[in-house]
Amino acid sequence: MPEETERDCLFCRIQAGDIPSDPVAQDDLTYAFRDINPVAPVHVLVVPRQHVGHLGAVEPDHAPLVAAMVRTTQVVAAQEGVADDGYRVVINVGRHGGMTVDHLHFHVIGGRPLRWPPE
Ligand code: 5GP
Ligand code: ZN
Repeated sequence: MPEETERDCLFCRIQAGDIPSDPVAQDDLTYAFRDINPVAPVHVLVVPRQHVGHLGAVEPDHAPLVAAMVRTTQVVAAQEGVADDGYRVVINVGRHGGMTVDHLHFHVIGGRPLRWPPE
């Protein structure tokens, strides 16, 4: 496992293929796979291959990685057929944000109308 991944991190292990997942899209910097507990017809997680703990740990050096996450999100939306009707991208941060896996990830959620504000 490359140095920038963490042995005990669920999403590091998923992106490396050590734990099975249902892939949707990927490139050199990112991996997108279906959420195990979907909240909508489309619920895909987009993660950087490199371990970044959460949004607050993103640094200027991560710019290419964040851009790749945005690009992969666009690809996921197009492939899943939600680009035209619209979808939501969610980043949970910390305890109040509801983060449960400590590896930066975008939730890409769609396939039905979504209420606002959330909860
Ligand atoms: P968070 O709550 O950290 O923003 O989101 C973590 C997401 O990871 C949750 O939506 C949860 O359903 C999903 N998840 C947790 N464990 C697994 C797993 O083993 N495989 C997949 N595909 N998704 C997972
Ligand atoms: Zn990780």
